[in-house]
Amino acid sequence: MRKREHSIEVRFWGVRGSIPTPGRDFIKYGGNTSCVEVRCGDTILIFDAGTGTWGLGRALLREFGDRPLELHILFSHTHWDHIQGFPFLEPAYHKGNVINLYGGHSVSALEKLILGQMDREYFPVTLLELASEIHFKALSDNPFYINDVKIYYTYLFHPGLSLGFRVEYRDRVFVYATDNEILTGPEMEGYNEKNMENLIKNADLLVAECQYTEEEYLKKIGWGHSSIDQVVRISRLFGVKNLFPFHHDPLRTDREIDRMIKHARRIAGKNLKVFAGREGTSFSA
Ligand SMILES: [Zn+2]
Ligand SMILES: [Zn+2]
Repeated sequence: MRKREHSIEVRFWGVRGSIPTPGRDFIKYGGNTSCVEVRCGDTILIFDAGTGTWGLGRALLREFGDRPLELHILFSHTHWDHIQGFPFLEPAYHKGNVINLYGGHSVSALEKLILGQMDREYFPVTLLELASEIHFKALSDNPFYINDVKIYYTYLFHPGLSLGFRVEYRDRVFVYATDNEILTGPEMEGYNEKNMENLIKNADLLVAECQYTEEEYLKKIGWGHSSIDQVVRISRLFGVKNLFPFHHDPLRTDREIDRMIKHARRIAGKNLKVFAGREGTSFSA
């Protein structure tokens, strides 16, 4: 059995795209927007801070109590569904904790956007009033390191762009790729496939947006999201072992996600396993 400190552990706190979806049609998979926790030994990485961040923060406080916490939040981009939970991250209100924020086109752009989000007109507490230490980190070196975790990033195709992250820890690979249209047009294909290959090649765990069915995608080309068929195709092409479709469309009910995953498994072949991104579930490799 693998030692825990040698594996990458992934837990889903928010799996919905665009807008939170409370309601009885969304109970099984969950209605919170994007937030995925990844543990590499003692290093805690958080991918996006959608509304799922609230539950994550509370769980961290239960686990750590008064012990100081250092968190690393990596933003794919700053659309609402990826930042909206940040002001509700409770460990950010505790003195002694350190929160590092990565993403955006530059440090100053990310800082400006997060400061703006917590302007008093929108939220009662401003960023500058949080008791924890907040650091905005530049993404310049590529790859870069957080402790002994190696992280490579690349820009994905999405309105305003989005960042995909490849995490390498010991001999394991986790990839987070959301808000990403996998273009198949003749001029784009070579570039886009190369870009995706560098990002996802031989990943043990790939968390990827699969917002649309193939029929829906054909009506929404250029909107910056992918179909499940496209994501399964590139996962197979580049040797991904486990695929976790998430960023579910807000209209996608539990039954429809069940059907989508069944379809994905049918076309995945025998080397690729598919598990739906579902709030509260965790996986490790
Ligand atoms: Zn999104
Ligand atoms: Zn987006």
